Amino acid sequence: MIEVSTDVAIVGAGTAGLNARREVQRAGKRWVLIESGVYGTTCARVGCMPSKLLIAAAEVARTASSAGEFGIGIAPEAIRVDGAAVMARVQRERDRFVGLVRKDVEALPAELRFHGAARFVGPTELSIDDRVRVRAQAVVIATGSRPTVPEVLRGLGELLLTTDTLFELRELPRSLAVFGTGAIGLELGQAMQALGVRVAFFNPLDELAGFSDPEVARRFRAYVTERYELALGYKELKIERTGAGCSIRCRDSAGQHHEGQFERVLSAAGRTPNLEALQLKAAGPGLELDERGGPRFDPETMQCGTTPLFIAGDASSRGTVLHEAVDEGAAAGANAARFPAIDRIHRRVPLRIGFTDPRVAVLGQRYAEAKQRAIVIGESSYEDQGRARVIAQAHGHVRVYVDRASGALVGAELFGPGVEHSAHLLAWAVGTRTPMAELLRLPVYHPTLEEGIRTALRDAARQLSDAERCPAADRGSSPGL
Ligand SMILES: Cc1cc2nc3c(=O)[nH]c(=O)nc-3n(C[C@H](O)[C@H](O)[C@H](O)COP(=O)(O)OP(=O)(O)OC[C@H]3O[C@@H](n4cnc5c(N)ncnc54)[C@H](O)[C@@H]3O)c2cc1C
Repeated sequence: MIEVSTDVAIVGAGTAGLNARREVQRAGKRWVLIESGVYGTTCARVGCMPSKLLIAAAEVARTASSAGEFGIGIAPEAIRVDGAAVMARVQRERDRFVGLVRKDVEALPAELRFHGAARFVGPTELSIDDRVRVRAQAVVIATGSRPTVPEVLRGLGELLLTTDTLFELRELPRSLAVFGTGAIGLELGQAMQALGVRVAFFNPLDELAGFSDPEVARRFRAYVTERYELALGYKELKIERTGAGCSIRCRDSAGQHHEGQFERVLSAAGRTPNLEALQLKAAGPGLELDERGGPRFDPETMQCGTTPLFIAGDASSRGTVLHEAVDEGAAAGANAARFPAIDRIHRRVPLRIGFTDPRVAVLGQRYAEAKQRAIVIGESSYEDQGRARVIAQAHGHVRVYVDRASGALVGAELFGPGVEHSAHLLAWAVGTRTPMAELLRLPVYHPTLEEGIRTALRDAARQLSDAERCPAADRGSSPGL
């Protein structure tokens, strides 16, 4: 058994773990980095980057299919999606991203990097595959998460895909059943359909894209239902293996019958934190576990109870996204290095974006949270929005929530063209607590998709007291609005 003593042991060399390591180093403390899988991070290998590469190909196909709308004749038969070439580009570019991360990790001193699964054998003592014993002053748990596969899909063998295997395909399947209608399921299923794959979505819950605002949810659902096959709130689900694939039958929440034959099935039903292998109970009674077996921790410091253990990224089950995994990793690393003198983390305004068709975003306080206080709701539709019509993407809706007491924007839920960009402007306005009057004095160029969010902000401002209303100089409406 090799014995190692260090200041901070970091378990997991993903985005959160690597950012934790950097902070420990910056604080001048000793560290070791333990990784049980391959280097390269979930984001680059099987997450953000390969999914966006697939979506990029889908968007080219969508643009080509809509060329006729602009008077540009591309016969449908002239649009040929070469599935092997699409996947080859996804894999080539993905490998490039992974290679960059690997290079950085492999540049770290080899004697401080350990390969193997870590588990606790004491409060801050870890065993790595029973070969190495690490004694640390503090530990950062940054073990990430893995795709959850619901019970109903477990017998599907090689037909079943998850986001860990989807991007390895050499060809596109002819048909795909997607289980899960959150951002990831929708992103991937919609992209596949644009690339010519026959797709149907299934969810035992009546949920789509995670909106809490009933009006935004209703309109998004109407858009998606018109263009995609959806079995939401399914009951009486029957999945049977057939020759080359499987048949799926069910009834949705509206009683409508769905039946189809599918070559592959994608499980996009959420993610499970990688915590079991850590055997957290061995960290001692100071570490309190929740009902799911995860450590109770303070999201303002990432500290688990009063222990020298810190958690970050997807391992924390908070539904992390990449920029939060970076922040949490950095905070966990810095606090582990200076323990017991820990600092509070600077939490950014919550921002979730789905690279769906069309884009979805939820930011700041969601409707469900914002409506607990006195708010006014401003809204606007993209159906008659100038730039959205110009580009023939006039679908979408935005609802902004403005606090009556402060006259400041506190959150928004929206979908529509360009939303991945305009949602940032709203999130920044929430973060800077800019009063409405000031916000509406800022420039918005014409004709842009950002005019859509300004219309919603003006709608909210009109409902506020005189003092908060948009100033006269900004009242003139741009043509097309
Ligand atoms: C398909 C998909 C698309 C996504 N798209 C986006 C997006 O567009 N934007 C966005 O912000 N986020 C996106 N995400 C989420 C984002 O990728 C994750 O939030 C982020 O990568 C989590 O980083 P992490 O460091 O927590 O985990 P990881 O990068 O998974 O790192 C955890 C590491 O810990 C290792 N490990 C686990 N257990 C042990 C153990 N016992 N001992 C040692 N090592 C261990 C694992 O092997 C792994 O390398 C997406 C995710 C997926 C799956």
